[in-house]
Amino acid sequence: MTHHASCHCGAVEFTVDLSDGFNTARRCDCSFCRRRGAIAVSAPLDGIKITKGVDNLTLYTWGTGAAKHYFCKTCGIYTHHQRRSNPHEYGVNVACLYGVNPRDLGDVPWVDGVNHPKDR
Ligand SMILES: [Zn+2]
Repeated sequence: MTHHASCHCGAVEFTVDLSDGFNTARRCDCSFCRRRGAIAVSAPLDGIKITKGVDNLTLYTWGTGAAKHYFCKTCGIYTHHQRRSNPHEYGVNVACLYGVNPRDLGDVPWVDGVNHPKDR
């Protein structure tokens, strides 16, 4: 199933084919994600297609620079990131998907971002 998605202002639109539906939904408590606060779901690298506004995305990296976090330049909303723990996957902001209310996902498990697998 292909999901349609956008940032908040609509400058960036994209489609998403998830790796395993919403079964991969998680939160993370690393220093970055705890501030961002979004729930992420996994998609393969070829599972995201930016259909509008690719030039309106900006990139944030920190620490090792392995994870690549993309945001809309205009509204600041995080759309997706290339994962550090699995560079063959993107994490997608579940709240960007049309028709999905993150509240409906119930209790979403936490990833131990403080003790990141790549830091052990
Ligand atoms: Zn935007």
